[in-house]
Amino acid sequence: MIGGMHHGIKKLLLLGAGHAHVQVLTRLAQQHPADLDVTVLTPYNFQTYSGMTPGFVAGHYSETDCQIPLAPLFKAAGARWLAGRCVGLNAGSRRVQVAAHPNSPGNVPSELSYDLLSIDTGAVMDRERLEADMPGASEHALMVRPIEAFARLWPEVVALARRQPVSVAVIGAGAAGIELMLAVRQRLQTEGMDGCRFTLVTGGVEVGSNYPDGVQRRILRQLKRHGVTVLREACVGIEAGRLHLANGATLACDVPILAIGTHAPPWLQGSGLELSDTGHVLVNHFQQSASHPEVFAAGDVCSRADQPHAKSGVYAVRAGPPLADNLLAAHRNQPLKPHHPPANTLNLLSCGAGHAIASWGPLHAEGAWAWRWKDRIDRAFMARYTLPAP
Ligand SMILES: Cc1cc2nc3c(=O)[nH]c(=O)nc-3n(C[C@H](O)[C@H](O)[C@H](O)COP(=O)(O)OP(=O)(O)OC[C@H]3O[C@@H](n4cnc5c(N)ncnc54)[C@H](O)[C@@H]3O)c2cc1C
Repeated sequence: MIGGMHHGIKKLLLLGAGHAHVQVLTRLAQQHPADLDVTVLTPYNFQTYSGMTPGFVAGHYSETDCQIPLAPLFKAAGARWLAGRCVGLNAGSRRVQVAAHPNSPGNVPSELSYDLLSIDTGAVMDRERLEADMPGASEHALMVRPIEAFARLWPEVVALARRQPVSVAVIGAGAAGIELMLAVRQRLQTEGMDGCRFTLVTGGVEVGSNYPDGVQRRILRQLKRHGVTVLREACVGIEAGRLHLANGATLACDVPILAIGTHAPPWLQGSGLELSDTGHVLVNHFQQSASHPEVFAAGDVCSRADQPHAKSGVYAVRAGPPLADNLLAAHRNQPLKPHHPPANTLNLLSCGAGHAIASWGPLHAEGAWAWRWKDRIDRAFMARYTLPAP
C-alpha cells in the first residue's frame, strides 16, 4: 500500500489536462474504480493541441480545430472539474494550493488534498527569468506559452497587418519557432499583405540546432525560399518597435514572438518533490516521483531520471497509456509497469500549410506528402479524444 493511504474512497487529483491526462481521462471513462474519486484542476474546459497551432496561425485550421473539448471527457470519466491552476504544492502534507480561474463556473477551494497525485501541467515561460535575460520581453513580446493566450492574441496581429505592413521577428529557432515563423509568413502572404518582413532570431546558434545537419539544410532552404532572414544572434532586450541584439545592433520589429526554451513551473520549488537540475519533477521508469511514490508526472513538467529525453508533445502522448495503467495499479496496490520512451520519434515539421520536412533519427525527406501525413496524424489524434457534447 502506498504510504499512509487509508481504506475507503481514495482521492486522485489530476493537475492539468495535458497530452497524457486526456488519455488518463479516456481510460477512466472505460474503467473507473468505484472507490476512486477523481478531480481535475485545470484552467480551461478545452485542451489546445500545440501540434496544430502553427496550422492555426497559417490559417489552415480554426481555433476550435485545435481544441479538445474537455467537458465530455470529464463527464465520461466521472471526474469533477475545478477551473483553476495549481500555484503551490506541499508533497509532505499532500496539499495543493489553488488559484481559481477568473471565469470559473463554480466555487473553487483554495486548497485541495489528495491520496494520489498526477501532474501533467506542461512547461511554462517564466516571465521573471525571461525579463532578466531580455529586459522588456514581458511587456513587449508575444509569448507562445500559455498557448491559449497566444492563440487568442494572434488574430490581433493579423488585424494589425491588415492596416499596415508589419515586421515580425520570431525569437527562438527550435521546432516551434521555425514552424511559427513559416506559418506567420504564409498567413500574411495569403491574406495579400505585401511589404511585411520576417526575421528568425536564433540566439546565436544555428537554426534547428537539435536536428541532424541534413534536416538543418532543408530548414534553411525553406526559410530562404520564403524570404525569411535568419539572424544568428541573441536578442538581449525588447522595446516598442525594436529588438536589441547581442552584437549591439538593433532590429526594427513590430511583432516580436518569443518561442525560446521553456522552464519548469516555479511552484515546484519548495514542494518537497525531488527535482531535476532544471527544476522539473524527477520521475522513475514508472513515471512516478523519485521521492514521493503517491505522485506521478508526465509530459514537459517532468524529467526521467533513468532515460532523459527531449521534451515534446510526442513523448507526452506516449506516456499517457502507461501513466493511466500505473495510476490504476497504484490505486489497487498492484505492481507498476515500466514505460520505455522511444529512442527516436517521427518528427514532422510543417513549413506552412502544404509542405513539411519529415525526420526520424538520421533519416529525412520532405514534400507535400509529409504535410498531408502530419495533417492526418493530427486530425486523428483530435478525433480520438473529441467526444460528443454531454
Ligand atoms: C507552437 C508550438 C508547436 C509545437 N509543435 C509540436 C509538435 O508538432 N510536436 C511535438 O511533439 N511537440 C510540439 N510542441 C511541444 C509541445 O507543445 C509540448 O511538448 C507539449 O504540449 C507538452 O505536453 P504536456 O502534456 O506536457 O503539456 P501541455 O500540452 O502544455 O498541457 C498542459 C495542461 O496543463 C494546464 N495547466 C498549465 N499550468 C497549470 C497549473 N499550474 N495548474 C493546472 N493546470 C495547468 C494547461 O492549461 C494544459 O491543459 C510545440 C510547442 C509549441 C509552443
